[in-house]
Amino acid sequence: MAAKYKIPRGTYDILPDQSYIRRFLQDKFREAAETFNYREIITPIFEVADLFERTVGDSSDIVQKEMYKFQDKKGRIFALRPEGTASVVRSYVENNLDLKENSSKLYYMGPMFRYDRPQKGRYRQFYQFGIENIGSDSPYVDAEVIALADTFLRNLGLKNFSLEINSIGCPNCAKDYDNALIEFYLPQEEKLCSDCRRRLKTNPKRLLDCKVPSCREISQNAPSMLDYLDDSCRNHFEEVQKYLIHFCNCSRRKSQKNRN
Ligand SMILES: [Zn+2]
Ligand SMILES: [Zn+2]
Repeated sequence: MAAKYKIPRGTYDILPDQSYIRRFLQDKFREAAETFNYREIITPIFEVADLFERTVGDSSDIVQKEMYKFQDKKGRIFALRPEGTASVVRSYVENNLDLKENSSKLYYMGPMFRYDRPQKGRYRQFYQFGIENIGSDSPYVDAEVIALADTFLRNLGLKNFSLEINSIGCPNCAKDYDNALIEFYLPQEEKLCSDCRRRLKTNPKRLLDCKVPSCREISQNAPSMLDYLDDSCRNHFEEVQKYLIHFCNCSRRKSQKNRN
């Protein structure tokens, strides 16, 4: 049987002999999120494009070139969601969830869309899950989010991994750090890929996660954000680490109990 229609570029089918894997991942994520008292929120897969343009930031790669935008019959511009946070926050505000009990710890999962180049191994429709904890800036919350991710990986049965953490500080520290990055990369600008040369002007921190080998090599010697944290951000980061040790001790104790 010759196929007349082919799947759109950058997408994939999940066939019956593989779909159980998706189900397994979803179940384990749900389980980890609900252990930490997060509750599911389900939002539409498209929103007005402006929502993402405002919140993800005009200078991000997503908004610059990766949004899947379309116009409806009345000329309104929508976008297939490129990530989850903007929609969750939109719904949180629109539904006054700040006034409702147990509604600030939210998790979501589902398809996201980016008009990316499929030859780079990325998909135009991909699945993501995530959590949002809205309304608190406590270091405890940061630690909890990290511990949840750790719990998820452990629940999958993975053992051979380590947790590395960093801090991007507050907008003030981040600005100092951006300047340090520009100072570091600018003399080597001609060795950077074209994306990174653009990022240097718009969003220097994004250079640090470029996958192009020549950029990666340069980035190995880039200044560390931790050297640019002000006192209160450094304190916050230290508190996060203290709480994390607390979480780790708890789960270690738990697994010892299970063994007995
Ligand atoms: Zn700061
Ligand atoms: Zn690059």
